Amino acid sequence: MAADSEAPGAGTRGHNFKVVLLGEGCVGKTSLVMRYVEDVFNSKHVTTLQASFLNKKISLGGRRVNLSIWDTAGQERFHALGPIYYRASNGAILVYDITDQDSFEKAKNWVKELRKMLGADICLTIVGNKIDLQKDQTVDTQVAEEYAESVNARHCYTSAKLNQGIEEMFLDLSKRMLEKAQRDTEQRLASEFGSSRRNVVVVEDGEEAQETLGRSSCC
Ligand code: GDP
Ligand code: MG
Repeated sequence: MAADSEAPGAGTRGHNFKVVLLGEGCVGKTSLVMRYVEDVFNSKHVTTLQASFLNKKISLGGRRVNLSIWDTAGQERFHALGPIYYRASNGAILVYDITDQDSFEKAKNWVKELRKMLGADICLTIVGNKIDLQKDQTVDTQVAEEYAESVNARHCYTSAKLNQGIEEMFLDLSKRMLEKAQRDTEQRLASEFGSSRRNVVVVEDGEEAQETLGRSSCC
């Protein structure tokens, strides 16, 4: 990670965000990341040998952002993704296959698992992949959108095969992660600034002044 001078994950070279991909086997996680980072598509399921990540650099409103996109090594089949996979993630992409209802039901378990590992403090996107197979769609759009809303996530559709919706999906997630990092920094600075002001006043004016300025520092 770059030196932390602006916000968690931010440095003079820009922001670094870790994004994890989650979802059942064969929903297209590897295909999405390969399409996004290397613009290739393989019609066969490729099993990665170990958990790995690919980097993608993007620019967001003049700010440089480096995404480390973590793909599973097929351990999702055993529901055995270790804590290292999740650790310090800023965003998660939960993928289901729009032609496979079961993969959508299982996606809900992945959301629970994610919350267990990281709490609610993560930007989440739920992705219905294989939209090129819309004629075989079994997962209802309204149901998927309502579910996403209920877990405070964004919902969108992609096709790794036809390269549809992928750039937009990563861009939207990156914007939200950047906004969150900026909010966190502001909050951190506000609380540090607030407490240091209060300390100064305690020395100068005693309890009464501490209370007065304690309130004004919130504004
Ligand atoms: P993973 O196990 O979730 O990483 O899934 P893969 O990326 O290995 O993909 C599983 C299978 O789905 C492969 O045969 C891919 O070619 C296929 N696949 C992935 N994305 C799409 C898509 O958008 N459309 C279609 N039609 N097939 C896809
Ligand atoms: Mg894979």
